[in-house]
Amino acid sequence: MSRYFCHDHPDVLALETRVLDARPGAVVLEQSPFHPGGGGQLPDRGRLTWHAGETRVVGFDAADGRVWHRLADAVEPSGVVRVSVDADVRAAQSELHTGAHVLNALVYRTFDGALITGAQLNDDLTARIDFDLPGVDNDRLRALDAELNDVIRQDLPVRYAWMPLEAARAEPGLLRSRSVAPPPAADGSVRIVEIVGLDRQACGGTHLASTGQSRPLRILKIDNKGRHNRRVRIGLVGTRQ
Ligand SMILES: [Zn+2]
Repeated sequence: MSRYFCHDHPDVLALETRVLDARPGAVVLEQSPFHPGGGGQLPDRGRLTWHAGETRVVGFDAADGRVWHRLADAVEPSGVVRVSVDADVRAAQSELHTGAHVLNALVYRTFDGALITGAQLNDDLTARIDFDLPGVDNDRLRALDAELNDVIRQDLPVRYAWMPLEAARAEPGLLRSRSVAPPPAADGSVRIVEIVGLDRQACGGTHLASTGQSRPLRILKIDNKGRHNRRVRIGLVGTRQ
């Protein structure tokens, strides 16, 4: 995973910066508060304002170690710009993503180290997470709903650390995806996300500061996808406090 500004400054959603490179409809910025998505998390969206106008930031493309910010209009901003992240989109993705971690932790613990095979967070406060769970009774999975909300009520803090990828590989349970290990940052390290007292795993996404900031979460549906995979759909309930 690349090391993004938002990893170190998750609360900075707006800043002034300079355009390093531009082509019609896209810019590279000196500093960026945006999370470009990945690992099932949707990319941030936001706005970019410069001396000649304003446009929306609608997507991201990584190339040659740089992140191109795709713009809604075929403009070529230059000089000093002000960018801001859509706070509602970021908050909803962070909340859902934190919930996905909690579910993942409970599945890992309950079903002997079962790994994730895929995840997709949606724009409508729901997500799907696929687990490698051959021969598991879906009622046992459904029963995790109560524990999920118990963890939310416990308000466990979320903390971060960076460690060398090789050290992360050596510690069972830190790399939780069946198919992919997160690519390390330029210095060879990966980011470890800890829900204190519950779970530690490598992840480059955005999260709440503690589980208690989440709304209640429901397991909506469980589908069998092939012999090995269970697809669990989860959804946040109610309006955010
Ligand atoms: Zn995460």
